[in-house]
Amino acid sequence: MKNITVIGCGTMGNGIAHTFAQYGFTVILVDINPDALNKALITIEKNLDRQVTKGTITEIEKQRTLAHISTDTNLANAVSQADLVIEAAIENSDIKLQLFRQLSEYCNEQTILASNTSSISITKIAAAVKNPQRVIGMHFMNPVPVMKLVEVIRGYATSNEVTQAVMQLTRQLQKEPVVVNDYPGFVANRILMPMINEAVYTLYEGVAGVAEIDTVMKLGMAHPMGPLQLADFIGLDVCLAILNVLHQGFGNPKYAPCPLLVNMVTAGQLGIKSGAGFYQYKAGSKELVVADKFA
Ligand code: NAD
Repeated sequence: MKNITVIGCGTMGNGIAHTFAQYGFTVILVDINPDALNKALITIEKNLDRQVTKGTITEIEKQRTLAHISTDTNLANAVSQADLVIEAAIENSDIKLQLFRQLSEYCNEQTILASNTSSISITKIAAAVKNPQRVIGMHFMNPVPVMKLVEVIRGYATSNEVTQAVMQLTRQLQKEPVVVNDYPGFVANRILMPMINEAVYTLYEGVAGVAEIDTVMKLGMAHPMGPLQLADFIGLDVCLAILNVLHQGFGNPKYAPCPLLVNMVTAGQLGIKSGAGFYQYKAGSKELVVADKFA
């Protein structure tokens, strides 16, 4: 595999494009929003600069990585030569199904079609495609250039050949694939999201404040960041979408999203990407400041 197309250039898409380009693949990054594509290229350059400063890559490797990435807003053009397409558009089932229907039409029959979805059924996505055996989940973790895990999700129809090819490719990126079956939330989010939701309930019920909840989990459980900070980092809209999939998929009230999380998303408080969530974020500042609402 040589040519990779990444659809969606947000938090995850730019990290996935960065990582493939760093390991020598030719990457086309696609988005419906041209401003988002420009912003993604700036983010990728900034993240590469950080790697250069840390000494994990050289300036020449940085330039080579950037040279491997091009952008496009035309999906049909961008996927026509792809060996692998990784869809990382927003966590919305209708949008993903529509995209995979288009991929089924625009790609050649050998192209492997992967989704970075956090929770939407790979089997359902595959049902929108002509040859569903080539559809698979490649669930990267945030931030992609740093995190070692790729959760590889086998849909009901995914072939052994496609699974093996994706595992080998993951190892080429110096990451570790873990293969799991296709049930709501897979493994990572089935375990993580109920913890985040419970942390939001703990805040909602006034058991403790934002900083206190996160400190308990950081210092008491040795988590590198507290669940509320992690939720801001993931995006509260993404967390809500995943909880809704778990809730509907299992029909169990234990997965019902906390009303406070629903309210925050409705109000546009999405975490880092919107500037505020449980904490507030200022460009250039690393200080962790609890949002006014919870101070
Ligand atoms: P995001 O909101 O940061 O970015 C989504 C991007 O998709 C935006 O740039 C948007 O313009 C673009 N987009 C929307 N519709 C499109 C379309 N039809 N065609 C092309 N581009 C389109 O979202 P994100 O956090 O990067 O999440 C992307 C996917 O990755 C989701 O499925 C999410 O569940 C999954 N994921 C997210 C995280 C995380 O920590 N944020 C971790 C793992 C997986």
